Amino acid sequence: MTDVTVEPGSILGVLGGGQLGAMFAVAARRLGYRIAVWDQDPDAPAHRQSDHSFTAAFSDLPTREHFARLVRAVTFEWENVPADLCEWLEERHRVRPSSSVLRIIQDRVKQKQFLHSNDLPVVPFVAIGAPDQLTEAVKQIGIPALCKTATFGYDGKGQWPIRQDSSVDEVARTLRTIERPAPRWILEQLIEFECELSVLVVRGTNGECRTYPVVENRHEQGILRMTLAPATVSVQVAARASDLARQAVVLLQGIGVFCVELFHTADDRLFINEIAPRPHNSGHYTLDACRVSQFEQQVRAVCGAPLGEVRQWSPAAMVNLIGAEAQAVASGQAFKGLLSLPGAVLHLYGKKVVRPGRKMGHVTFMAETSEAAAEPAHRLIARLAALSAVPPA
Ligand code: AMP
Repeated sequence: MTDVTVEPGSILGVLGGGQLGAMFAVAARRLGYRIAVWDQDPDAPAHRQSDHSFTAAFSDLPTREHFARLVRAVTFEWENVPADLCEWLEERHRVRPSSSVLRIIQDRVKQKQFLHSNDLPVVPFVAIGAPDQLTEAVKQIGIPALCKTATFGYDGKGQWPIRQDSSVDEVARTLRTIERPAPRWILEQLIEFECELSVLVVRGTNGECRTYPVVENRHEQGILRMTLAPATVSVQVAARASDLARQAVVLLQGIGVFCVELFHTADDRLFINEIAPRPHNSGHYTLDACRVSQFEQQVRAVCGAPLGEVRQWSPAAMVNLIGAEAQAVASGQAFKGLLSLPGAVLHLYGKKVVRPGRKMGHVTFMAETSEAAAEPAHRLIARLAALSAVPPA
């Protein structure tokens, strides 16, 4: 496909309709584009922001034709959309990131092999093709280790820590119960990191690369709880993390928005954990605290337009609202209280179905430093725990 700019007024297609797709749609519509969202879930938040909604399965051929006739360029909001569909669309339109980048990223084994073969630091890992190979893999990697599904894992799902010999058989038994066709896994050394960092890298059609400030992520039960932007690490560590992230995206030849997640250890080593080929939860603060958000950058990169400024104008801390927490803050006094907190910006995704662990919204706090912004963020987390606590029977 040629790389002329896709102009405002055109219809941009987005595969997947979660909150990332919805925030992409809002940014695109502000720039005068129209949006076609394809997600099987009619309750997916992006449908409400779209001009055209498709709710058939991604395998539906008439929908594929219809979608392709409508759109001028395509992106996706998460990495588990079918790469075959992206490849088919790519024969007709600009798809960013490309299906070849998506194929590498969709598979943890391919992704880690790609990074390792390009001399980028990753934790020691071994590919596992069948549950019976787990014992041998543990011998190579050692204990503690972390077994992860090679595909379709997210938010800590599909992960099994192995902290003692006796867990090996137990995990192998669990792997044998998995019914997905030909599942594969990766066994990684489980490392004791000091903190988790992530870096948003935006790369345009002309190869220009821009990098947002390095941020620090705190997880609870595998789910992102809080992001501090910028990270509290030294300038030197931030520069190294940023450099590694940029190198990874340049080596991939990726075009679009990428989030590179890293571990920083107490002995000052950095490892790339994984790359998301799309805007990321840890970059939501860019909506409120940066000149141009990660979603607007996605629009610009997909359309072949000049990239925007990545300057952050206020330090920030972002807290995710998970599961029932969103209902708790959306009701009565709690809602008023939250909206009147100085420096707090509330985003609710409007998802009807509440499930434990489901990301329902987020709050960004802004202050003089990210640590200062983290103070009200911690108070909010404590308040959420109190609000969502089940009352005694
Ligand atoms: P992932 O799905 O790979 O992003 O993993 C989810 C979370 O699990 C990460 O954010 C880390 O907190 C943790 N994790 C993943 N891989 C490792 C590892 N090799 N060692 C220690 N913790 C890990």
